[in-house]
Amino acid sequence: MTKILRGTPVADQLKEQLSLKVNNYINQGINPKIAILRVGNRPDDLAYETRVFKNCQKVGIDVESVNMDDNTIMVDLIAVINKLNENTDIHGILIFRPLSAHLDEKIVASKINPQKDIDCMSPENLVKIFAGETTGLGPCTPLAVVALLNFYEYELSGLNVVIVNRSMVLGKPLSMMLLASNSTVTICHSKTKDLAVLTRQADVVVTGVGRPKYFGQGFFTDQSSIVDVGINFDGDQMCGDVDYDAVSDVCAAITPVPGGIGAVTSMILLQNVIKAIEIQQTHKNKKSQEE
Ligand code: NAP
Repeated sequence: MTKILRGTPVADQLKEQLSLKVNNYINQGINPKIAILRVGNRPDDLAYETRVFKNCQKVGIDVESVNMDDNTIMVDLIAVINKLNENTDIHGILIFRPLSAHLDEKIVASKINPQKDIDCMSPENLVKIFAGETTGLGPCTPLAVVALLNFYEYELSGLNVVIVNRSMVLGKPLSMMLLASNSTVTICHSKTKDLAVLTRQADVVVTGVGRPKYFGQGFFTDQSSIVDVGINFDGDQMCGDVDYDAVSDVCAAITPVPGGIGAVTSMILLQNVIKAIEIQQTHKNKKSQEE
């Protein structure tokens, strides 16, 4: 019988833990707050903003929305980022991506204060992931995959994981996190030969190719656990990279889409807000001890 790896119980557990931590901070006089920086009015950005507002409300985190015109130039965008960096009432900054083509995302990423970088854009935080350091703020989707595997009690040490994605938001950082937990990791991509041979040998397959229902039965065995990170649309219907109806009866375990990793990722973003406050408090205490 296939195990359905639902994201909701994972997200609910995280939400409960977060609400307690937020309350603790509020009792100490610290009101957790993030700023959303949105350039333009893209419908998917607006929908994401609404979701972030709702999730923050659920755990008691305040949100300030900063909206800039589509024609915003770099110097103005950086000035706003600097202001948010300096504002001690703001603990986390979330800049919606992708930015308009005329804005340089790499420069923007380097301007955000790494201690407030809840979406892990800054090079400083990314380097920490690759150096195996856990003191920074990590990327939400890879952290969500690890949280889900932990919740469902996968023993990561020695686990044979194939990740079909090599992007900086998923495959590369996830591979580093799993390696740090002693998994054996294979990264695949669009030029990988005999992909199905590799996925069929894995204990866990993480898919993130962005192609609706691309992975059929032939990619898996009855021993496969599948974490489908893809968010796609088949007509009006949201679906993953895996053909869920065809595969869910023949594999060992699978995340549904919707209802899988997405819900966990949303909570991990808020978990990063709490971690950001912890980092900022530690930094503040260290500084005052030095003075
Ligand atoms: P991306 O940058 O376009 O990366 C896609 C990756 O898939 C690339 O490494 C690409 O290989 C590989 N690929 C594409 N077609 C392939 C094929 N036929 N066979 C093997 N590999 C193939 O996308 P992304 O930003 O990482 O996002 C990936 C998916 O995850 C999207 O569906 C996105 O919506 C979803 N996502 C979900 C969440 C969540 O919370 N659930 C968060 C972020 C993203 P190359 O490198 O060779 O091009």
